[in-house]
Amino acid sequence: MTIKEKIQKKVEELKPEIIESMKKFISINSVNPRAGGPGEKEVAEFLMNLIKGWKFDLIKRYDAPDDAVPYGFRPNIVAIYKGSEGKRTIWIITHMDKVPAGDLSLWKYDPFNPVEEDGKIYGRGSEDNGASLIASIYGVKTIMDLGIRPKDNLGIVLVSDEETGSDYGIKYLIKQGIFDKNDLFIVPDSGNPKGDFIEIAEKSIMWLKIITEGKQAHASRPDIGLNAHRYGMKFSVFLDEYLHKKYNATNELFDYPKSSFEPTKKLNNVENVNTIPGTDVIYFDCRVLPDYNIDEIFNEILLLADDFSKKHSIKIKVEKIQFEQAAPPTSENSEIVLKVKNAIKEMRNIEPKVGGIGGGTCAALIRKEGLPAAVWATIDETAHQPNEYVKIENLINDTKVYAYLIANS
Ligand SMILES: [Zn+2]
Repeated sequence: MTIKEKIQKKVEELKPEIIESMKKFISINSVNPRAGGPGEKEVAEFLMNLIKGWKFDLIKRYDAPDDAVPYGFRPNIVAIYKGSEGKRTIWIITHMDKVPAGDLSLWKYDPFNPVEEDGKIYGRGSEDNGASLIASIYGVKTIMDLGIRPKDNLGIVLVSDEETGSDYGIKYLIKQGIFDKNDLFIVPDSGNPKGDFIEIAEKSIMWLKIITEGKQAHASRPDIGLNAHRYGMKFSVFLDEYLHKKYNATNELFDYPKSSFEPTKKLNNVENVNTIPGTDVIYFDCRVLPDYNIDEIFNEILLLADDFSKKHSIKIKVEKIQFEQAAPPTSENSEIVLKVKNAIKEMRNIEPKVGGIGGGTCAALIRKEGLPAAVWATIDETAHQPNEYVKIENLINDTKVYAYLIANS
C-alpha cells in the first residue's frame, strides 16, 4: 500500500472517533470571557485527556494568568511529536475559544448541543475553530497509529483568546519563546468551501470610535444647542471620502483588492425625536492593505478631526478600538506554502491558489515575528453565524491532508 492509501484507510477507521470528538468539542461552552463566556478551562481539560494516551513525546500547558475568569488563567496546550531528525518544528495552531451564540431564536438547534443532520454537525465553534482543531490533532494521530516518524518535529498548539486579541493565547506563547526562527507554521482558521485557498497575507485592522460632542437642546431651539449628530455625520462622510480617495492602492492578492473603510456601528444618541443630541458616536471598521502604515493614517485622522472641530466649534475625538498593523505576507514560494499546496494536491486532487484576506488570524501575529505561516481549511464560512456547522466530509478530508503533510515532513 502507498502512504496515501494507508492514510486514507486509517482516517476512515478513525472516522467515528473523530466525529465523536468533534461533537464533544461543540458541547463544551468555551466562549471567550471578554465576550461574556466561561473561557477555555473545561475544553482544555477535555483535550488534554483526549491526547494524553497518544504517542506525543511532550505535552505541556502554558496557562496565562487572567483575572477575567474566576479560575484565574487561560489555558494553552502545546504537544510535540518528535521527528527522526528534529532540527525544526512544523506547528499547527488552532484556537479553543468560541464567539457567543448570539440570538438563540435564529438557531435551529441548541448551539452547545451538537446535532448531526445531512452530513453536517451543527453547533457553535464547529467551523470556528473546532473542525480544524480536531482535524489537525487526528492528522497527527493517524501518523502515530501508522508508526511513522517524520523528519521534522510536529507541534500541535491549542490556544485561548483568539477571538478577542490573543493576549492570553498566541501572543503569550510567543513571549514564552517556544518558537524557533527555522520553524514553519500552519494556522487553519480561514479558507473556502472547495478547500483550494491558501491564505498568505492579511490586511491591517483599524477599528475607530468617533465621538462628537456638541450641546443638547430642545429640537425647536437649534440656536442654543449644537447638534452633535449633524457634525458627527458630516465628519464621517468627509472622512469616508477622504480615506477612500487618498488610500486607493489595489493589491490583486486580495479578493477585495482595495483597502476598506466602512462606517458601521452607530450608538443610540437620544431616545426621543424632539431633542438635539449633545453626543454622537459612530464606528469605522477599516481593513487596510499591508502597503500602508496604519499609525500614519491614524495620526492623519487625528489632525483632520482637530481641523474639523476648530472649523465648526465642536469637539471630535477619535479612539482606537482594535489596531493591528499587518505583517508582510508569507511568500507564495515559501516551504510551508509549498508543503500545504502539495498535500492538498495529493490528497484532494485539486489545484490550490494563494491569496489574501481582510484579517485577522493568529497567522498575522506569527508573521509579525518574521516567521512563515500558511492559513488553510475547507469551510463553508459559517463562522460567527447562527446555525454554524461543519461538513463531516470536510472534517475527514482535512484530516487526511494534515496526515499527508506531516508524514512527508
Ligand atoms: Zn477562528
